[in-house]
Amino acid sequence: MILPASHPESISQAGEIIRTGGIVAFPTETVYGLGCDALNPDAVARIFEAKQRPRFDPLIVHIADRVTLDSLVPFLSLRDRRLMEQFWPGPLTLVLPKRAQVPDLVTAGLSTIAIRMPAHPVAQALLREAGVPIAAPSANPFGYVSPTCAQHVAEGLGDRVDLILDGGPCPLGVESTILSMAGTWPELLRPGSITLTEIRQVAGPVLKANASGTVAAPGQLARHYATRTPLTILTAQGMRSVVPLGERAGLLAMAAPCHTDNRFCSIEVLSPSGDLREAARNLFAALRRLDAKGFDHLYAEPCDEQGLGLAIMDRLRRCAAPLT
Ligand code: AMP
Ligand code: MG
Repeated sequence: MILPASHPESISQAGEIIRTGGIVAFPTETVYGLGCDALNPDAVARIFEAKQRPRFDPLIVHIADRVTLDSLVPFLSLRDRRLMEQFWPGPLTLVLPKRAQVPDLVTAGLSTIAIRMPAHPVAQALLREAGVPIAAPSANPFGYVSPTCAQHVAEGLGDRVDLILDGGPCPLGVESTILSMAGTWPELLRPGSITLTEIRQVAGPVLKANASGTVAAPGQLARHYATRTPLTILTAQGMRSVVPLGERAGLLAMAAPCHTDNRFCSIEVLSPSGDLREAARNLFAALRRLDAKGFDHLYAEPCDEQGLGLAIMDRLRRCAAPLT
């Protein structure tokens, strides 16, 4: 069932479903989340089932206020507080030590918990209404392209969800930045909507996970956010005549296409003016549109890995990673 998030009754119904162990898809500023009461292990288990998500992949817990934070986390450092003051509510997830009452299923048995305070008014209203912390991964089958509108959720999960709150398209379009605060230095576990430069201005030096190519964070699998159609990222040299004769292919272009190969059946332009924020906002919907056309192959132009470009290229690389 899809309800408009603008109606107060939709929010009260969604809050009631969460409080009684159900699962609700709702908009955040990044992507749509699939949420449940983070302190109810049975409800959390339903999320893993609905998404077919492996149990070793921990969930992000969403909160509306500091009181809830204190109920989940035993202590905060000065640096944690500075980051929260600067970026919360907003698309920054912090990995922090956890209290014992957080169910192991939420954190995949880790001694830490990933927490975020979303800025989207519907997410905030739902959190306040439910009155519990909400564990929420993206509202899509595990491994597929993340959902940035209610229709994407309905297509992927359908009646496996008790309710979908439709709050329109997500304003940012790529997931939160995940920063681990559990070690000596802050460590970037997933690039996202808040850039590394912004974080370094507040937190000082930040380690970049995955620099060695290893899986540094649980759940950060090489292949993720993936279309069903195989996707290849173009290199600067390979920008011309990449489509083999007879292949039906689509192109994901970053800006007004500089690509001269006219054999593409379809071209999606993420931002005609080359604005990375606009590109991030359109990324997943454009990938889904190309994927739905049933082409033999998709090609994506790369962008500079500066600012939001780091998160965009991270998602494209995982989409392009081979099935293992
Ligand atoms: P998502 O797939 O968007 O729900 O994001 C969840 C991701 O957050 C997981 O795949 C992990 O990579 C990361 N994460 C969640 N909890 C933790 C944790 N306690 N420690 C490290 N990473 C975590
Ligand atoms: Mg996800």
